[in-house]
Amino acid sequence: MTRISDVKIRCGHCRAEFTGAVAFADLESLESAIAAGLRETCPSCGQVVICSEKNLMWRYADGSGGGLYA
Ligand SMILES: [Zn+2]
Repeated sequence: MTRISDVKIRCGHCRAEFTGAVAFADLESLESAIAAGLRETCPSCGQVVICSEKNLMWRYADGSGGGLYA
């Protein structure tokens, strides 16, 4: 299990960055949610964002980043 924290989503419509409704504590559960079609509603523009590694960012326990932070 790879611990992650501070998962954020970048909206493809307005470029706002926001924290999703569901918190993810490890990379495996985030990846399985993405594979299952994770969607979040952007609080800035109200559009639905389909989440993928291309618009998500997170931190690992050692402080390094994943997704857009990598
Ligand atoms: Zn937006």
